[in-house]
Amino acid sequence: MTLLTPHKDVSAFLASPQGLRIGDARIETSALLDVIDPSFDTLATQVALGGADDIDHAVAAARAALEGPWGSITTHDRGQLLWRLADAIEENKQIFGELDAIDNGKPMHVARDVDAVYSARHFRYFAGWPSKIEGRTIPVSSPGKMNFTKVEPVGVCGLITPWNYPTLMMAWKLAPALAAGNTIVLKPAEQTPLSALYLADLALKVGFPPGVINVVPGFGRDAGAALAAHPGVDKVGFTGSTETGRRIIEGSVGNLKKISLELGGKAANILFDDADLDKAIEGSFWALFGNNGQSCTAGARLFVHRSIKEQVADRLAEMAKALSVGPGMDTTAHDLGPVISRPQMEKVLNYIQAGRARGAEVIAGGAQQGDSGYFVAPTVIQSVTDDMTIAREEIFGPVLCLLDFEDEDEVIARANDTDFGLAAGGWTRDVSRVMRLSDQLKAGTLWINTWGDTDAASPFGGMKQSGYGREMGEEAIALYSQTKSVWLG
Ligand code: ADP
Repeated sequence: MTLLTPHKDVSAFLASPQGLRIGDARIETSALLDVIDPSFDTLATQVALGGADDIDHAVAAARAALEGPWGSITTHDRGQLLWRLADAIEENKQIFGELDAIDNGKPMHVARDVDAVYSARHFRYFAGWPSKIEGRTIPVSSPGKMNFTKVEPVGVCGLITPWNYPTLMMAWKLAPALAAGNTIVLKPAEQTPLSALYLADLALKVGFPPGVINVVPGFGRDAGAALAAHPGVDKVGFTGSTETGRRIIEGSVGNLKKISLELGGKAANILFDDADLDKAIEGSFWALFGNNGQSCTAGARLFVHRSIKEQVADRLAEMAKALSVGPGMDTTAHDLGPVISRPQMEKVLNYIQAGRARGAEVIAGGAQQGDSGYFVAPTVIQSVTDDMTIAREEIFGPVLCLLDFEDEDEVIARANDTDFGLAAGGWTRDVSRVMRLSDQLKAGTLWINTWGDTDAASPFGGMKQSGYGREMGEEAIALYSQTKSVWLG
């Protein structure tokens, strides 16, 4: 193992506690938030810890920006700022890569070349939108009257993001919210606040008026809950667990703020016996192990046709054993990092244990790996049945569960037998079956003969208890806008 020497800007960033970003100020707090490097279980740095008062202050700054310079900016200039921010993210992708590698643990090259680059692309896609958010003229049946609509920003948006893709999840929410003309108070996950603070600085540098993007790191129960409940916040965009999603709704009732929720998942991925097996096995493997299983769209329940289950299981186990794991900043090429935290590691190991106790068979991994950091050996478990906890609850770690099936109707019913509905999919060469799957699988995104693709232009979000609202594409603009109907007589 050889660790990368951090970029000088990253070293400087980590050298002293970073303040909250409110307006154009960096605000120090007496309490600090420990930022742990999950690759080593050590303190990477500390940042300011925001609470309810800081949220208040940030909401006031966001309101002032909305009623001030940002509210009157031309659509051209709004789009151009988004484009400039995209460029700045791309130019500084090394820094974003290192910051995410340090507090999240994912391999730096992935954080840099995938997360940061796709975040920049996200801003670029939405940079084109401000000038295309149009109302309509409506042919009402009232003689002599005219009716038209104006599409306006919702207002001050509280964005609450998770730790699994710190930069990318922030981009998914910020870009459409800004394109639609809103101002922002962002609360990043307490485990991964670094890239959000850095992005706030870049936004000021490229010319965003102060107060348009405010960043307040803090705990969910304090800063997060205060943001969700704040009477001055018009909308909350949230990505996280289903349980927290419920709390956000409860918190929102005071001022009936608008809410969009991207919550948990337990995606079914169905491997039929007529699939292109090499492609299906490779795809199904990464459907789970991508981002170390820490994705709400992870293909966590892999249903394999009974006639091919042994060979598929053998190959998946071999592939899992061949994966290399290492610290985020390890320069030796490696596939996966640690999981995010000690509690998360323990939770994942407990799930594996629960599966074993019910008779499921671990055929790769199954334990902690190494003795420093939160590494879980890539795990494959076979003979999983629908009623086991590991088949029903979101594990959010490198644990692939194999179930088997006999026929199509049966497996579709079982795939849908979950409270979640974020993603689902399968592998088959039969075109009629593809059509049936796309009709019958109940999830916001289906991947058929592929897995994990997303695009800034394509709507993304959940059915059932995986949430509501669609991020990305024109749906995301609608999510952060509201329509006003104007009558003229
Ligand atoms: P996880 O359990 O995987 O950490 P969470 O849903 O708890 O997922 O976290 C996602 C985001 O929600 C984080 O930014 C977290 O701080 C925030 N959060 C947690 N609890 C609350 C809450 N009660 N109100 C608002 N935000 C919260």
